[in-house]
Amino acid sequence: MHLPNTFRQISLRYMKPLTEQEIRAAFVNCTKGEAKRLSIPRDLADRPWDDLDYLGWRDPQAPDRAYLVTELDAHPTAIALRCPGPASWQARRSMCSMCLTAHTGGVSLMVAPKAGKARQRGNSVGAYICSDLACSLYVRGKKDAGAGSRPQESLTLEEKIQRTAANVAAFLAKVTA
Ligand SMILES: [Zn+2]
Repeated sequence: MHLPNTFRQISLRYMKPLTEQEIRAAFVNCTKGEAKRLSIPRDLADRPWDDLDYLGWRDPQAPDRAYLVTELDAHPTAIALRCPGPASWQARRSMCSMCLTAHTGGVSLMVAPKAGKARQRGNSVGAYICSDLACSLYVRGKKDAGAGSRPQESLTLEEKIQRTAANVAAFLAKVTA
């Protein structure tokens, strides 16, 4: 189906602003008690939702904990992540598997306990993700990781955004599988 450009622009994926309550209810890989207690950013209203493929944040009280919420089929879905302390390889240049930005020391291995029964067996899945969880802003050129940090490629911004969103969705699918 051919759509005029204006419609394709409107179809571009972006996030609807979420409330603290919606985010807490969206967690799939922790207990209800954990989802109730975990740290949610206080400045949700000021987040750049129109520029986000996902909202990610770290727990200011527990630096090895990070969280990520996105919309899958218009439903908010959130996961809790653990980021083990920096390893020696992290001082080298490495690439985020979500947004393909290369950083020196700015990518972390983030590990998500799997949802449901697999979680009870201790299963988890990991991915290399921008340590500041700002993939959406790197893709859109709103945050800069330095010279040579973005791959040279002929994709449009919309295609890069869709690829990032697809990578995030694929990671969440592994967590909930
Ligand atoms: Zn990234």
